[in-house]
Amino acid sequence: MRRSLYTPEHDAFRSAFRALLDREAVPNVDKWEQAGTVDRDFITTAAESGFLGFEFDPEYGGLGISDFRYNAVMTEEVVRSGMAGDTFSMQNDIIVPYLRDLTTDEQKQRWLPKFTRGECVTALAMTEPGAGSDLASIRTSAVRDGDDLIVNGTKTFITSGATCDLAIVLVRTGERDGRGTSFVVVEAGTPGFERGRPMHKIGRKAQDTAELVFTDCRVPAANIIGEPGRGFGSAIANLPRERLSIAVSGVASAAHVLDLALDHVRSRVAFGAPLADLQSVRMAIAEMHTDIQVLQHYVDGCVEALGRGDLTADDAAGAKYKATDLQWDVVDRCLQLFGGYGYMEEYPIARIWRDARIQRIYGGANEVMKDLVGRAVVTR
Ligand SMILES: Cc1cc2nc3c(=O)[nH]c(=O)nc-3n(C[C@H](O)[C@H](O)[C@H](O)COP(=O)(O)OP(=O)(O)OC[C@H]3O[C@@H](n4cnc5c(N)ncnc54)[C@H](O)[C@@H]3O)c2cc1C
Repeated sequence: MRRSLYTPEHDAFRSAFRALLDREAVPNVDKWEQAGTVDRDFITTAAESGFLGFEFDPEYGGLGISDFRYNAVMTEEVVRSGMAGDTFSMQNDIIVPYLRDLTTDEQKQRWLPKFTRGECVTALAMTEPGAGSDLASIRTSAVRDGDDLIVNGTKTFITSGATCDLAIVLVRTGERDGRGTSFVVVEAGTPGFERGRPMHKIGRKAQDTAELVFTDCRVPAANIIGEPGRGFGSAIANLPRERLSIAVSGVASAAHVLDLALDHVRSRVAFGAPLADLQSVRMAIAEMHTDIQVLQHYVDGCVEALGRGDLTADDAAGAKYKATDLQWDVVDRCLQLFGGYGYMEEYPIARIWRDARIQRIYGGANEVMKDLVGRAVVTR
């Protein structure tokens, strides 16, 4: 079924971004997997072509385009390219709303031009060793000392943590009877801000993930973004967009992998005929194809809702868990259709399978998403 989400402008944008990925990323996928990160040169090249921070106003180097369909196009193309780095989804989908909506003009002047030039890779640090799903129990503290804050604590599993130039850190600032939290921007090189070595993950190896440690780290209070004491509220406001980004990549990955499996079952011969001639294989293909079509339309509807400004937290949570559960189901079933070849690193399906697993955990574990949806529905 044809999708009606995109216009000819989105299609042209897709062609331009695909050309960039084919030229600059696809030849380097293996190199970046081994290096554990994508080249900074690639990030600046993508930025020069306008693919980073395009939602920011032109005075800060952006294009002033606020239309999440462009973000979705980029996510779909990144999935198709086989590039596992999270640069674009992290920077454009997750970080941009924090830097666009919570910052003052003075803060925008300091950070946004570097961001849109690709010179400012940014991390969002919320999770701690003792606080993941239960974010309200974070312990990293920021205590006021004159015009500064003294930050102490540890963040873990932080995407781009080892390579970021800026970290947007959720800290406890203690307003509202000790419950208050705030986001504070900590720049690389600030004394007392240390990064651990990249963590050894089972997948998404071209993307660094690291622990951040703050020890008596002195940060100007002018680096607080958003209203002091309301950090948790800002996170809750931005999480639906983050979850939708994960849902878009989940469906895109399922669709991409089904295409790979179709090529395989049409050409792989067993018992004297292509695997595609087996009825059980065709039934598996039918189930996956139909599930993807149905979910694609739901996720497209969520993208439209975000554009209208009425994407609810529970709809985004539903899209996140459903799309990533489907992604895992389809990727695993398609790997099965490749037989032993699917278990070999030379076959893209092997890497896609490893990379898919985290999708059901980060951005809010799928069980937490179901709890959020269930609570919204029963109290409606
Ligand atoms: C590769 C990677 C990248 C990440 N990037 C970032 C990042 O950039 N920034 C950041 O801040 N964090 C990041 N995270 C952290 C991620 O968001 C957390 O791992 C996730 O929210 C789960 O938290 P946890 O690991 O502490 O698991 P826990 O909170 O300990 O939960 C463990 C499991 O318990 C179950 N569970 C928990 N709560 C409930 C509940 N209420 N109901 C039912 N079941 C429940 C779920 O099955 C869950 O998976 C990343 C993690 C990874 C692995």
